[in-house]
Amino acid sequence: MPPVMKFCPACASPLEVERREGRPRFICSGAGCDFVHYDNPVPVVAALLEHGQTVLLVRNKGWPDKWFGLISGFLERGETPEEGVLREVKEEVGLTGEVVSFIGAYAFQEMNQIILAYHVRAQGEIVIGDELAGVKAVLPDRLRPWPLGTGPAVRDWLAGRGLLGPAVA
Ligand SMILES: [Zn+2]
Repeated sequence: MPPVMKFCPACASPLEVERREGRPRFICSGAGCDFVHYDNPVPVVAALLEHGQTVLLVRNKGWPDKWFGLISGFLERGETPEEGVLREVKEEVGLTGEVVSFIGAYAFQEMNQIILAYHVRAQGEIVIGDELAGVKAVLPDRLRPWPLGTGPAVRDWLAGRGLLGPAVA
């Protein structure tokens, strides 16, 4: 995936790819400027949200019709991952949740992200936030993981409950 940044934030010269430390790096082409854009993966928090007997999956605006994923989002400055994931739950479905456990950290290389996935529980009435096109409530034994993004966290959570069939393991 190409970097989002094309120009040096220090001097506005174009960034150029150069091999350094055995890796392609995005280096400033400006004379006398030694800025390097490392393009490090960005942490994203995700909530496997249990609501009553169901797990809530969400579809963001702009996603294809059949795509659903876990509630997720970027951290704000000064937030812990736990605070961030509960804020995303509040923003996306209007629920006050509590973190039950940390499911795991997952590399989402296609998006240059590291997903920190939490099992979160919440009660109350769902109020769909501005970022969402839809919410789907799925019984855990009907929940099937998908290969990318937050799917592996779903797989591990299901496996921990003995709900993962051999066909999808
Ligand atoms: Zn520069």
